[in-house]
Amino acid sequence: MRAILTYHSIDESGSPISVSREAFRAHVRWLASGSVKVLPLADLVAAGDDADAVAITFDDGFQNFADEAAAQLREAGLPSTVFVVPEHVGGENDWGGHHVPGIPVLPLMSWATLGAMAAQGVSLGAHTRRHRDLTQVRGASLEDEVAGCVERMAAELGPRPTSFAYPYGAVDDSAATVVRDVFAHACTTELRALRSDDDRARLPRLDMFYFREPGQLEAWGSAAFRGRLWLRAQGRRVKRLVQGRAA
Ligand SMILES: [Zn+2]
Repeated sequence: MRAILTYHSIDESGSPISVSREAFRAHVRWLASGSVKVLPLADLVAAGDDADAVAITFDDGFQNFADEAAAQLREAGLPSTVFVVPEHVGGENDWGGHHVPGIPVLPLMSWATLGAMAAQGVSLGAHTRRHRDLTQVRGASLEDEVAGCVERMAAELGPRPTSFAYPYGAVDDSAATVVRDVFAHACTTELRALRSDDDRARLPRLDMFYFREPGQLEAWGSAAFRGRLWLRAQGRRVKRLVQGRAA
């Protein structure tokens, strides 16, 4: 089995974007144990279906990645990718000034911190310029959120990001077409393992919020783990239907 793991924030709020320090420490211990291979994102996508491996990703670029996660990952020799929102770098995750109930507003890494992370081997990917839902923007705005994000990151950091994550996991054909032209790989929030025939512009991921309890990630590959994946995917599908969003 191959899967891309998603984290956002390492904090104690218990919110849907949060995994606690203790849960994260347990995940790193298990990921470093050799029970599963941990690969850079591009290598995971290129690996065959018989590979047993994961890639680690963090959305939004929270400061707590630098404070809580980076040293542990580095010491354990685990590669990771952080998806950055250039127009909010050094600010907070108050995308568009909207406060979402239940989601903590937290500081995001500065350009200097992101540069230091990259120097330590962390891969930096793109997450749109302003954390926009790409199904809600068209034409020049869509281009600016995607290609403009690359330009801004290249201007600030040097390298051009080659991977991307859709804010809110929101993607439609127009967004995927623009993203496919610019990036080698793009991640959604569709909750399942990778398949060899996956569209490289619509890669599924496993949100670690759903695997934060002790033993859940460690059950990787078991029938119980696959059953849990299936159940979670059904639950999310129902939720999206209830909320009137396309699945
Ligand atoms: Zn995000």
